[in-house]
Amino acid sequence: MSKKRSSDEFIILVLSGAIALGILPFVVIRLLQKDWVMVVLNTFAFIGLTTVFTYVCLTGRTTIARWVIASLAVIVMSFTVYLKGYQNILWIFPALTTLFFVLTPFLALLIAVGFLAVIITFVWPSMDKVMALQFFIATGSTMLFCFTFSYRMRKQQDELTILATQDTLTGVGNRRALEEKLIELIDLKKRYPEQSASLILIDLDEFKSINDRFGHSFGDKVLTTFTNTIVDRIRVTDKLYRYGGEEFVVIADNTSQEEAITLAESLRSSIECITFQGHCSLTASFGVAQYLKDENQWHWLERADIALYKAKESGRNTTCSAPDIPF
Ligand code: GH3
Ligand code: MG
Ligand code: MG
Repeated sequence: MSKKRSSDEFIILVLSGAIALGILPFVVIRLLQKDWVMVVLNTFAFIGLTTVFTYVCLTGRTTIARWVIASLAVIVMSFTVYLKGYQNILWIFPALTTLFFVLTPFLALLIAVGFLAVIITFVWPSMDKVMALQFFIATGSTMLFCFTFSYRMRKQQDELTILATQDTLTGVGNRRALEEKLIELIDLKKRYPEQSASLILIDLDEFKSINDRFGHSFGDKVLTTFTNTIVDRIRVTDKLYRYGGEEFVVIADNTSQEEAITLAESLRSSIECITFQGHCSLTASFGVAQYLKDENQWHWLERADIALYKAKESGRNTTCSAPDIPF
């Protein structure tokens, strides 16, 4: 089955593949020149980068790959300049930009400054001082440009992630965030099947009548008060998501069916205690489902939905357990 690659994987694959291909002609040139030290150095970089390429291709993991690429860029370029002198100094620029592509902006800046300090000590004695100044200013401005660009890009990426995964009214995770969390959690349960996890599906009772009687903006206030109450009551490791409209989901990791029912009951009591300036009181119905081995997120949610339906049928303001329908 083909899997869509993340932009993260794509960047690492392009970088490692392109740099490996770029180095290959120099392995041949240095071989023809019988420059054995450079042959070894370039072959080392080529093998390192093709290994990274293959590893990311097969596993989709990028954390180690990022560090290998950054280390290769710094080590191989430092040795090249040390061995071949300032004639090879132009390679510093792609090495510098690579650091900002693979590491976080401040870490890349720190390593880039150290890297440049090492290079300058190598080339300073043999370099014309005007050229040294030009080199210093050119690398410094490249570094600042890369830092600003990378910092801005990451900030925008964070803002976009929040926009894509957060519910604008209540500030809790939205349906997309819920689906991502469920996939991640199911993956974890496959690796550690002895650990439990439970899902609590919550639906506010007769919410339409609250809107009808007090208006939509009052209904919005009820929704935010409800989410604040739930967030205050659950553990930091449990997460609340807005499933849609007036339906919410609590994901309680490392929680059995019995523990999740106890939690749902305590949440139900807390909601019952909320009053809105004497206008109205609020109740909610709960469906609880512990994760069953091998089921997917849709099956899990469907079972919680069956439990919630039972709770509504039983007169609302109650908690029901999901059936153990095997997947
Ligand atoms: P039940 O007890 O059977 O769940 O009844 P209900 O009235 O809660 O359910 P129903 O599905 O009939 O109505 C849900 C209402 O929730 C209708 C919709 O206008 C309202 N709603 C959904 N999203 C929002 C929102 O963001 N703000 C407000 N104020 N109301 C919302
Ligand atoms: Mg409802
Ligand atoms: Mg509903």
